[in-house]
Amino acid sequence: MTKFIFVTGGVVSGIGKGISGASIGRLLKDRGLKVFMQKFDPYINVDPGTMSPYQHGEVFVTKDGAETDLDLGHYERFIDEELTKVASITTGKVYSKVIEKERRGDYNGSTVQVIPHITDEIKQSVYKAAKQSGADVVITEIGGTVGDIESLPFLEAIRQIHSENKTEDVLFVHTVLIPTIPGSDELKTKPTQHSFKALMSYGIKADIFITRADGEITDAIKEKISLFCDVPKEAIIESKTVDLIYEVPLVFHKQGLDDYILERFNLKAKSDSDKSWYKMVEEFKKADKKINIGLVGKYIELHDAYISVNQALYDAGYTNRAKVKIHWLDSEQINDENVSEVLKDMDGIIMPGGFGSRGVEGMIATSKYARENNVPFLGICYGMQMVAIDICRNKLGLKGANSTEIDPDTPYPIVDLLDNQRPNTNIGGTLRLGNYECTVEKDTLAYRLYKEDKVLERHRHRYEFNNNFRGQIRSAGVVFSGINEDLDVVEIMELKDNDFFIACQFHPEFKSRPNKIHPLFDGLIKASLKKNNKQ
Ligand code: GLN
Repeated sequence: MTKFIFVTGGVVSGIGKGISGASIGRLLKDRGLKVFMQKFDPYINVDPGTMSPYQHGEVFVTKDGAETDLDLGHYERFIDEELTKVASITTGKVYSKVIEKERRGDYNGSTVQVIPHITDEIKQSVYKAAKQSGADVVITEIGGTVGDIESLPFLEAIRQIHSENKTEDVLFVHTVLIPTIPGSDELKTKPTQHSFKALMSYGIKADIFITRADGEITDAIKEKISLFCDVPKEAIIESKTVDLIYEVPLVFHKQGLDDYILERFNLKAKSDSDKSWYKMVEEFKKADKKINIGLVGKYIELHDAYISVNQALYDAGYTNRAKVKIHWLDSEQINDENVSEVLKDMDGIIMPGGFGSRGVEGMIATSKYARENNVPFLGICYGMQMVAIDICRNKLGLKGANSTEIDPDTPYPIVDLLDNQRPNTNIGGTLRLGNYECTVEKDTLAYRLYKEDKVLERHRHRYEFNNNFRGQIRSAGVVFSGINEDLDVVEIMELKDNDFFIACQFHPEFKSRPNKIHPLFDGLIKASLKKNNKQ
């Protein structure tokens, strides 16, 4: 029997609903339960894959190739489980499915409506998540804030799930902000009371409140919420602002949240929590070194566009007792003239993924600088493609070498579509997505890092390194240390004469976890610390 937790947001957005859900997941996993997490996004896009990073931040990719909301990255990092397609449901996906069924005649002549057809489809996704994962608890976060028009069918669906299951099998968690009035330090619970009422008007009664506030949530505040919102005081959890997001589960645990949930669910679990998460956080706090990592990319104004990369860097730093200072550097502002000035204080450089032609010249200049100055460097996806272009242009003298994504008429298409990818029609969901195997060549940096010869890595790109240039680029000192043998495409390249210069076609950031750092990130941080020590 699976239990269900639904996390809704009230008052304002951006108060850490995703982290709250993920923290509950961690707590329950630490009590020995199997947890699966899921996110509902009320927008009409089928997935965020076609959205600009400025609209949406990072697109997180699951092992089975779903392009999803960045909250799934938090979920995976917190609960340390690989999620799947069913973990990411959007209005677009639900409607597409219902319309497909209608066209097929599956509804037997009935009028197709939001209730029951759309809500049934939403409910099915929750039950499917439970069935596929075999989890003891499925935690579903409903995107947006209560009161948004778009989220109504999702709220109605979870209300129905509550009514068709036993009361002890479903819990509603509501995250709220308790603001202070400028000029006075008084915390105000009225917005919480209103949000509670708004939820009630949809037939949903919050069981647990997770509160965010500038100040301490006193007993008096809890009593007020308890009185007006009809919950016991133990069900009001304070989500303090913490230094490390990974502390949030511990903050909740201290207030007895896992015990409270287990009691409400009437669930038997280990009485003692697994302490490894707690120990990890304690270790992270001991970081006493500092390193500077330059992140050269094109969506720099919005740090969320690289959230998994940022997190993988911080986590890899902490694991090596170092606080990483990320310098987000706009590749559009970098050129051959200023590159050494911009990057001179960096202990290491990372160049993450991207799409389109803006800012690529600065990325190519960055690759050249890191390569020629032996600065530890990790290129990811577009980053690897830029490395290949840099080497062809600047070491092999292939003038105008480029990716056909940027210059379709380049005389040297170093990065190109595979023959079977042409002609290219729809842009949604047609990239190379999800897990592909990479065979790691022995006696290479990649092998020293992975210590394995077969690894699975997640992908999200359309273009590939053009195999016709393998010979030439090898003669320039490049080692192809990772290959996908089925497709015969390059997955990892590295420079044999540099201390640490490696680039990959996949996204290692999606597999890095605070308690299981990805080897490429660990390698970059170790190499950067070594460089920093030498100075
Ligand atoms: N734009 C490149 C491609 O489609 C790289 C994509 C990426 O960096 N995620 O192949």
